[in-house]
Amino acid sequence: MKTADFSKIIRDVPDFPKKGILFKDITPLLQDAKAFHTCVEAFAAEFGKEHIDYIIGIESRGFIFSPVLAYKLGAGFVPVRKKGKLPWKTEQVAYELEYGEATLEIHQDAFQKGAKVAIIDDLLATGGTAEATAHLAEKLGAEVVKMAFLVELKFLKGRERLANYDIFSLIQY
Ligand code: AMP
Repeated sequence: MKTADFSKIIRDVPDFPKKGILFKDITPLLQDAKAFHTCVEAFAAEFGKEHIDYIIGIESRGFIFSPVLAYKLGAGFVPVRKKGKLPWKTEQVAYELEYGEATLEIHQDAFQKGAKVAIIDDLLATGGTAEATAHLAEKLGAEVVKMAFLVELKFLKGRERLANYDIFSLIQY
């Protein structure tokens, strides 16, 4: 299986979780051992030999790939979660959703100043979630050296919003 074949197994689910959204369901890719292997190897190859101190995973589907990548790259794993889930002192950032607002949190002691971090999520849509996560990392003095996504919905122009960052995606629509 090549990354170019991922579009054959990522499932389109119309009107989920609400009307008008075409949801990209990655579970058929995850349950296929060869596809999952190809996916993790492709992520790792994009990082090459670049030094990363921490991989940040965004709740919840970002948590699927980020610990695996952290393990492979010899980096630590740091979760960014929705408000109220992390037990220790947090830094917070509020950001706009399609309807309304949401807050993301990170532990204040997640990393030391100057740490080199990478952000991983399953899908890049408008880029709001990744941008908010990068701001959290920067509040703690970290340097965001990469952002990695399995799927990029190009028509939503997330890449333009994240123009200050080094981004890659494994499959684009
Ligand atoms: P955004 O902040 O607009 O870039 O949205 C990205 C976040 O929303 C990611 O965490 C995705 O998991 C989720 N998401 C947004 N749109 C979709 C979609 N069409 N299919 C699956 N997940 C999506």
